[in-house]
Amino acid sequence: MSQNVPDYDIIVAGGGLAGMIVATSAAYYSKQSLKILVVDRNSFSDLGKKTMNGWICGDAVGKNSVDYMKSRIGISWGSPEIEHPVKGVIAYSPDHKTGISFDGDGYILNRRLLPQKQLQDARKLGVQMLENIALRSLLKDGNFITGIEGEELKTKQVIKKTAKLTIDCTGVTSVLRTNLPIKSYIQKKIDRDDLESTGRYIYNFKVNGEDKTYFDPDYCIIHLDQKLAPGGYAWVFPKGADKVNIGLGVQQLAFNSYNKSNGTNKNIKNLIDEYVNINPVISEPELPNSEEDQNNTWGTWQVSVRRQNDCMVGNGYMLVGDSAWMPKPLDAGGIGPAIIAATIAGKNAVEAIQAFDLSENGLWKYNTDYITEYGYKTAGLEIFRRMLQSLSNEEIDYGMKNFLSKFDIEKISQGEHPEFSTIDKLGMLIKSALNKNLAGDLKYTSQMNKKLVNHYHDYPKNPEGFTNWKYKLDEYLKEAYSYFKEIKR
Ligand SMILES: Cc1cc2nc3c(=O)[nH]c(=O)nc-3n(C[C@H](O)[C@H](O)[C@H](O)COP(=O)(O)OP(=O)(O)OC[C@H]3O[C@@H](n4cnc5c(N)ncnc54)[C@H](O)[C@@H]3O)c2cc1C
Repeated sequence: MSQNVPDYDIIVAGGGLAGMIVATSAAYYSKQSLKILVVDRNSFSDLGKKTMNGWICGDAVGKNSVDYMKSRIGISWGSPEIEHPVKGVIAYSPDHKTGISFDGDGYILNRRLLPQKQLQDARKLGVQMLENIALRSLLKDGNFITGIEGEELKTKQVIKKTAKLTIDCTGVTSVLRTNLPIKSYIQKKIDRDDLESTGRYIYNFKVNGEDKTYFDPDYCIIHLDQKLAPGGYAWVFPKGADKVNIGLGVQQLAFNSYNKSNGTNKNIKNLIDEYVNINPVISEPELPNSEEDQNNTWGTWQVSVRRQNDCMVGNGYMLVGDSAWMPKPLDAGGIGPAIIAATIAGKNAVEAIQAFDLSENGLWKYNTDYITEYGYKTAGLEIFRRMLQSLSNEEIDYGMKNFLSKFDIEKISQGEHPEFSTIDKLGMLIKSALNKNLAGDLKYTSQMNKKLVNHYHDYPKNPEGFTNWKYKLDEYLKEAYSYFKEIKR
């Protein structure tokens, strides 16, 4: 690094959900002794906005993640940023005959209002903020990231700021990560098949009778259905007794072949409109015009459904949240992992600054801490997701009805991979060849999951061991990917 004194200790690029937590966490752990700057392209009143169309999200988060943040860095969320409490999630099979309830308190957030609370919390701890800056690139000195470069959106002025450490929280489309100008183990690009195209409405509606498989004010509802949401799933999340966040996500490849085989040319909005229309409980849906939902009623965006980036640090640089592909592969829930990672990353960043070592090696502990806390399970869940995407509606109906034990449901509730131990007990009772194949595939994913979890428990303690570890990871993944490519039912 050059001898010049940097402008800041830490620059957080992107003041979204993850960025605001990591800045607050670093301020907390350093007892406000560091100079921390958050830079975002939004104005303060629009903080956290993902696209022109708003703060696009399903808005659901488990209470346990919010509690995790509170217990470690003392940040708590309440009203109005928490809009509605829920008791859990119920996933319905395509035929609606099986509903699997994953109990566990959670919240439906108001993503438009939450950033204002985050802004207040960060400022209280002395975090500085710069608004209206579109970041374009990272500054570097040799093989070390030394800051950010962007454009002030109103004046078109070029802005350069330097820091000992830059933390990239600019979301899934991060141009900083994609064009990372230093040599590191960070993966810069994501496979198209690991991205879901998603969209959602926020609606007020008239309640038309009761059918809790379509709307339940106390539960988040998930519909697994390859016809409604090819390669993904659809959701009805309650924001009140007569208010809803309703949307779906698809895998583009599966959606393309759906269009091809049906001779249609639908887009994601068509699918969501159809999904709203078939819901018997939601009558006369209307986009809310209240201030709390202003400019945030409809939108589409992308979400990653793979394991987190295999390495999340480079010299002077860290990735947190969607920029590190953290959403859970099974349900694209990214708020929980972002909260956990951002809380941890703030601490790791402070420790590295206090140790005067912002190198890849000095920041490495963030990789291992996150994997120990959460990341150990995501590669197995990625394989499970690939398997689910290969199933027909009939197979999902059969599998959900017959192969999930109470123990498996508990595991999924905890974000873990199910073991499908009932399959061994059912054995000869499984009659059709199709369901025998399905049973085999489920057992395969569960065994592969065990290998992957063990492998992640062996994540190298420093960069030296990474190449060998990564080689073995790729071998496991290659094997699993080709297993599912070969499935032809
Ligand atoms: C339709 C949909 C539904 C979802 N539903 C759920 C759900 O119900 N529960 C759940 O847990 N997760 C859900 N997710 C995922 C969740 O929304 C994300 O995981 C979460 O928002 C990640 O936060 P983040 O801060 O990492 O990224 P983001 O929220 O994307 O924030 C990135 C920030 O960086 C800023 N930024 C980006 N580029 C630049 C740039 N070049 N210059 C300056 N600033 C920049 C943006 O303005 C923004 O403020 C959903 C996602 C989608 C798309």
